[in-house]
Amino acid sequence: MPAPRRKKESPWVTLAWGLNLVGLAGIALVGVAYIALSPVSAAPPVEAQPARRATAALPATYTPDPSSKIVYLPTITPNPRSTLIVVQSPTPFALSGGAGTKPVIIGYSVSGRPLEVYTFGRGEKQRMIVAGIHGGYEWNTIALADELITHINENPEIVPDDATLYILRNLNPDGDARDHGYDGRVNDHGVDLNRNFPTNWAADWDRDGCWDYGPTSGGAAPASEPETKALVAFLQSHKIEALISYHSAALGIFPGGEPWEKDSIRFAKALAEVTGYKFPPLDTGCVFTGTLADYAVERGAVAVDMELSTHVYTDFTRNLKALKTLLEWER
Ligand SMILES: [Zn+2]
Repeated sequence: MPAPRRKKESPWVTLAWGLNLVGLAGIALVGVAYIALSPVSAAPPVEAQPARRATAALPATYTPDPSSKIVYLPTITPNPRSTLIVVQSPTPFALSGGAGTKPVIIGYSVSGRPLEVYTFGRGEKQRMIVAGIHGGYEWNTIALADELITHINENPEIVPDDATLYILRNLNPDGDARDHGYDGRVNDHGVDLNRNFPTNWAADWDRDGCWDYGPTSGGAAPASEPETKALVAFLQSHKIEALISYHSAALGIFPGGEPWEKDSIRFAKALAEVTGYKFPPLDTGCVFTGTLADYAVERGAVAVDMELSTHVYTDFTRNLKALKTLLEWER
């Protein structure tokens, strides 16, 4: 019986196998190249540091969960998108200073949530940090402020003898309570607080290149909002020399002034050097009106809008360096 004749493969099958092998080798080569070139060995784009809400060592009025623990003023019912509720700012601002100091409430939001300022030190040079102006959309700035408050309470010596530092941990608590996303950006009147300050104010603006994920406005008039009024009154009664207004995310550092004021540009560069945040910032073509930084510059401060690298992390280590720059800043 003849041995079964081995079927001779057609030249096309042989060619197909050959191509397969070449293909496999190609995939392997691409894989090796991908591993070699992939960003595994590159520095991570952001600090590998979980964002966290500070919960310890804060004064008793600290409210880590605005939805459950906020203390409302009597007779004011929390009511998102409510009609105007007139609130009264307590005056004068009796800020005592010193480590472990309790926050002073400088006013209330549309829905009656307190606007708290923490004070550290008793020196002549007055510095200020404002967080949360865009509420829950930029909630990590509030988390950063809380981390800084905790850190300074534990290390009060980092505030020089000749300085006083004010931290307004959350200028837009209604937005923070409403949503940690697009809907959390505006206050309970639907106003973008960083468009409501009485410098270069406009009710509306061309949305080209600007944030446009939801309806908002600059308010019915300059400083129409209780949050803005409270901070304007604070800035009018204090000689703040340098101010950082925190935002997120990733666009960089924007000096105050229109056009940018020269000392605020120097301040932005100094902050960029220690934090790694971009200066000049990303130019998206947006025209900014009625910003806190512009108003602070008009009041004689150097001021910047400074963006954290993401909407998630607090970039604590970088911003501890920014704090040092803020505290030691000389014109
Ligand atoms: Zn913002």
